[in-house]
Amino acid sequence: MLHNQVQDLKGNIRVYCRVRPFLSNQCDGKSTIDHIGENGSIMIVNPQKQGKDARKIFSFNKVFGANAMQIEVFADTQPLIRSVMDGYNVCIFAYGQTGSGKTYTMSGPDMTTEETWGVNYRALNDLFCISRSRADIISYDVSIQMIEIYNEQVRDLLVAHGSNRRLEIRNNSQLNGLNIPDASLVPVKCTQDVLELMKIGQGNRAVGATALNERSSRSHSVLTVHVQGRELETDSILRGCLHLVDLAGSERVDKSEATGERLREAQHINRSLSALGDVISALAQKSSHIPYRNSKLTQVLQDALGGQAKTLMFVHVNPEVNAFGETISSLKFAERVA
Ligand code: ADP
Ligand code: MG
Repeated sequence: MLHNQVQDLKGNIRVYCRVRPFLSNQCDGKSTIDHIGENGSIMIVNPQKQGKDARKIFSFNKVFGANAMQIEVFADTQPLIRSVMDGYNVCIFAYGQTGSGKTYTMSGPDMTTEETWGVNYRALNDLFCISRSRADIISYDVSIQMIEIYNEQVRDLLVAHGSNRRLEIRNNSQLNGLNIPDASLVPVKCTQDVLELMKIGQGNRAVGATALNERSSRSHSVLTVHVQGRELETDSILRGCLHLVDLAGSERVDKSEATGERLREAQHINRSLSALGDVISALAQKSSHIPYRNSKLTQVLQDALGGQAKTLMFVHVNPEVNAFGETISSLKFAERVA
């Protein structure tokens, strides 16, 4: 590994920005991205303004432009995956408005093409490779859980045919990082096992969708990988966990238009995303009080946010002109936690 990368990892919170390309049906090609700098800066231009005031610059640990491949994005994520095998807890988030590329980054557009595999599969693939390469020193067990948080209720995604049972969160050190003890915990041996489970999980997200056509944009999905390693010589145990989180869409809902269920969903999403922002920025500022209790999301992730744990947030940007307002608000959110 390059010396630079090791140095970079010293900070426990990192933020990467990723710009989605224009989709083939959007050919007017006008973009709000003025410029991406080498040093992690991105300049956004307001299409409605002229002159100096029209431009605003944001800075992150790294910015991936529209042409960045999945493999490049993962290369900068990989060191975190390795640290899970060394016993660290890691959270990786995808943040952004609906349609900005969160699911593309985490899962990829489909599961069949290896080239477009997202962070999830690549991460698991890596974990298994590392496990094999250390087999004569450490024996690893890997298990996964997959849940969704919708309207502040936690639901298991790995139950056959779905389940609407609400699960409890317990932050109890005796549980070895199993904060949702009643969610299915499935041992996995290879990437293929994971692919099959994710198919079940994604299917269950659809099952849960009632009158709402696009449930996945209104719930947070959390894939948690629990790793336990036993050192063969000493029998000592190390534990790490990796949370891969595809967040609900961050777009603000016009309160004058949304009513009933839609408004309730929007309020839950707003509240939990701001609770997440509050926790990460409290951690970044080394504040003595970290407000984990304000949302189910931050309670679920509590052990993996703060302390020795490492956090990576991808903030996604849709370059279209009509997304300008949401782009600015996403980048502001991300800059606050960076
Ligand atoms: P979100 O999960 O934030 O709602 P998606 O990941 O579903 O957004 O992306 C919206 C659309 O844009 C999808 O059709 C997706 O395949 C496409 N897309 C997103 N990011 C990229 C990318 N980096 N390269 C190519 N297509 C992308
Ligand atoms: Mg999505």
